[in-house]
Amino acid sequence: MSWHLTHDQLHRYATHTADDVTAMSAEAHLTHCTHCRDRLPTDEAWLEHSWANLLDVVDRPRPSPLERLLGTLGLREGTAKLLAATPALYRAWLVAMVIVLATTLILAHEIPRGTLLFSFTVPVIPLAGVALAYGRGVDPAHSLASVTPWAGPRLLLLRTCAVLAPALTLCTVASALMPSVATAYEAVFWLLPALAMVAGCLILGRWLHLSVAGGVIGGGWLLLMAMFALMEGADPFQLFSPLAQAGWATALALLAAIVALRMRTA
Ligand SMILES: [Zn+2]
Repeated sequence: MSWHLTHDQLHRYATHTADDVTAMSAEAHLTHCTHCRDRLPTDEAWLEHSWANLLDVVDRPRPSPLERLLGTLGLREGTAKLLAATPALYRAWLVAMVIVLATTLILAHEIPRGTLLFSFTVPVIPLAGVALAYGRGVDPAHSLASVTPWAGPRLLLLRTCAVLAPALTLCTVASALMPSVATAYEAVFWLLPALAMVAGCLILGRWLHLSVAGGVIGGGWLLLMAMFALMEGADPFQLFSPLAQAGWATALALLAAIVALRMRTA
């Protein structure tokens, strides 16, 4: 470099008082010349602050609205992140759930056997969500999540909770809008069979792909309904009778105990 910026030029450049041409040529020179760059007066505090701000923006991933919501509910950052990274199918299931509930609810009001259709669809909704919530082929983050300490049963349980919270809420609201439902107890007629099926699916998921396990359990539910519909003197609604509810409660307690035992030994 044969020439260098004069002290006056440097000063005017640094204080933004140089004209455009001088400023541009000074800038072009400064990018190549360490000698002049070193002579340029710098505001250390400003520089440090700018770097800190920049690093903060570049380094820190922005939490999604869902992550922030889960955070305010008291979940730890890592757990919230894991929950928020639910598969795209989960979001599709949420939309599908609203559509199915709304459609069957309208049918329950409009057609003679609509109540039956609604009653047998509702318990399957949480099951469908769980079957889609986790596993290879459904979850794009599966291979990543499967090597974390949260992998396996614990992650499965976490995802199941993420499915059950909206499913149970929406199903209860939809059931409360049924023509025949008058009390809060009647609005949760589907709850015990639904939870028992979810627990059954989690247990079967040990040997089968979770979506296959969900299909098997859902198929069993349909078969049970068909049996009661075709049986002489039987009515599918008997599957929700107080006696049947006691049976569902017993089944749920047993299945939940098995799930809990698996969590502990996992
Ligand atoms: Zn220079």
